[in-house]
Amino acid sequence: MKSDVFYFSFKKNKKSVLQYIDALYDNSKLKVNKKNALIAVKLHMGEIGNTSFIKPLFVKKIIENLKKDGLKPFLTDTTTLYIGQRSNAVDYLNAAVYNGFGYESIGCPIIISDGLRSQNGKTVETKFSSNFQIIKYASDIAHSDGVVVLSHVKGHVVAGYGGALKNIAMGMATRSTKQQMHGDVKPQIKTEKCSGCGTCVAYCPGKAITIKDGKAVFNLNHCIGCADCITVCTTGCLKVLKNESSEKFLEKMGDVIYAIVNDFKKPMTFFNFVMDVTPDCDCLDYSRYPIVPDIGILASYDPVAIDKASIDLIKSEPYYFNQDQNDFELAVDQDKFCKKNGNVNYDRLLKYCENLGVGSTEYNLVELTY
Ligand code: SF4
Ligand code: SF4
Repeated sequence: MKSDVFYFSFKKNKKSVLQYIDALYDNSKLKVNKKNALIAVKLHMGEIGNTSFIKPLFVKKIIENLKKDGLKPFLTDTTTLYIGQRSNAVDYLNAAVYNGFGYESIGCPIIISDGLRSQNGKTVETKFSSNFQIIKYASDIAHSDGVVVLSHVKGHVVAGYGGALKNIAMGMATRSTKQQMHGDVKPQIKTEKCSGCGTCVAYCPGKAITIKDGKAVFNLNHCIGCADCITVCTTGCLKVLKNESSEKFLEKMGDVIYAIVNDFKKPMTFFNFVMDVTPDCDCLDYSRYPIVPDIGILASYDPVAIDKASIDLIKSEPYYFNQDQNDFELAVDQDKFCKKNGNVNYDRLLKYCENLGVGSTEYNLVELTY
């Protein structure tokens, strides 16, 4: 069955974007009847240095709408697997304030929902999965009465793209489950292209890389599969080892998504912000040139449908060629994420989630035209 995806296009707006966010909210309200319900608003608040995450003002608008409906929202995210400014709750809260997310700017508290060092996870058995026996996701999300998932749609070096589905899988899981998802992802180097700059060494949380004779050398026994080295290397000499590892990664994400959605069982709604569509995710400490023009904002109760609609809209836009980033040209309708991120077959995640019953790849795009 087709799911409704509500859509506002930046190209056609005749009012403030904030008014369209109100309209999207009205069409995709969280269906919570409990008075004073505690609502988790899940958002990647951006690494320090990154500038493409969702604007605090847009988040504030969602929070205002939730409060108007008598709900008690809190903004939330989980700590990261990789070394950065968000790998524990204290650093994350400092980074959030630096990036403009504070009570005074968004109008609600911020809670890092997996605890100080990701020790607070709800364990879920995953008998349906051949990849996991259990997974863990953030306790404070599990104990909330409903979730609003706000996703900045962009590329991702291993998953191909990041939207609502990735925001559930990687965004709600504890670090131990994030680690399990990343377990099969390993980098492969084209040594002749390596400049020996050492950037990857500084970013590697596993201390798996050394520079020998002016080239990076990997000890994959120490590699935790975070793919940070691939993301930060600007020469293009690193890619994910074998395509199967990214396929397995997508399958594992699908299992985690199903486990979380199936366990949570309370209302969820999704907003995708298709703007500043960078080739990489917001975990990077800088934002690269976007690959397409800003498109719009989407809302739906179905995380599969909203991601499929976002991807289709991106495919239909002209590609921004960037000569300064060793780029190649792509035509309108060519798959930009796939080409940018090593031909990752990210449709696999959509189909996998659809087969598990998480949502539908078929959708009605309902455009807000006023
Ligand atoms: S970042 Fe890339 S070019 Fe620099 S040392 Fe690492 S692999 Fe080589
Ligand atoms: S080698 Fe690369 S993928 Fe492995 S842990 Fe280090 S940065 Fe992460």
